[in-house]
Amino acid sequence: MNYKLLVVFLIVALMVVSPTMVGLVADGQALENGGDNNLDKSNIPDITVELYITSTGEIKQMSLEEYVCGVLLAEVPSFYEKETLKAMAVAARSYCMRRIQNEEKKIEHISADMCDDYSHCLGYISVEDALELWGESNINYYYSTIEQAVDETRGEVISYNGGIADTVFHASSCGVTECAENVWGFEIPYLVSVHSPEPNIEKIVEYSPEEMRILFEKNGVLCALGGEPQEWIECIKKNNNNRVEEIKISGVKITGRRAREIFGLSSASFDVNYIDGKFRFKTIGSGHGVGLSMAGANCMAQDGVGYRDILLHYYSGTKLILFSE
Ligand SMILES: [Zn+2]
Repeated sequence: MNYKLLVVFLIVALMVVSPTMVGLVADGQALENGGDNNLDKSNIPDITVELYITSTGEIKQMSLEEYVCGVLLAEVPSFYEKETLKAMAVAARSYCMRRIQNEEKKIEHISADMCDDYSHCLGYISVEDALELWGESNINYYYSTIEQAVDETRGEVISYNGGIADTVFHASSCGVTECAENVWGFEIPYLVSVHSPEPNIEKIVEYSPEEMRILFEKNGVLCALGGEPQEWIECIKKNNNNRVEEIKISGVKITGRRAREIFGLSSASFDVNYIDGKFRFKTIGSGHGVGLSMAGANCMAQDGVGYRDILLHYYSGTKLILFSE
């Protein structure tokens, strides 16, 4: 009997204490689309982010809001709309908060929560470095707009099923976004393919047959590229989201994702033709294609869509909440 009482006591104690044990929890207050709801943000705690600077190996400490400003400065084009900046502020904050709660991720950069490598975590540039690189006249106005966007969305994160969502994003898409499963091999319910209303941003990359041979060798692809170059590309298989699933070159099958790495392509949405002695790759969009497309979000913002509706469009089935202690 005493043992059972002890177990019940421990369970109740854990239920009471656990939120502080695991750090911050989402309080579940869903924010409505459109308005600011006159939110009471007095309970939003100050969060400190530890950022690993890849070029120097140092770990910098800063407030979450300062960190998010630096991410926007590095990731979002300066001519983008304010609502796009606000959507990106919420996405970057959520991404970082999720990493802060995930101890395993930190091992990859010596216990720091995040690093400044966009291909691993998120891009980041300090305002001091931006001033040095691009000059005061270019940065001051843009940075104050970023600060406003970050401040106006303070404490807002994207939640799914009681936890903070993995709010990945990319620069531009090809009319539709890609689902997580096609890129990382596992399903994430809120990272599914959605329509992305944006113009095609095309990029051309060309390689001579000899350069193709070198790229294959460098990337360890065992492929005998013999005969006429115009016959090397045998077929391209695309998925429903207009990304290359598989490309067959001289009998060797390569996934679209791997082809993107080998040929340094902006996205997995591409076509390739042999023209005037060169292989011409034409890509649409930039990035992995999963989650929010910044270019698509900006087109929605230009059409008068608010940042909350933009976020709920790209992260299907999620909700926006305020985090609290
Ligand atoms: Zn990292």
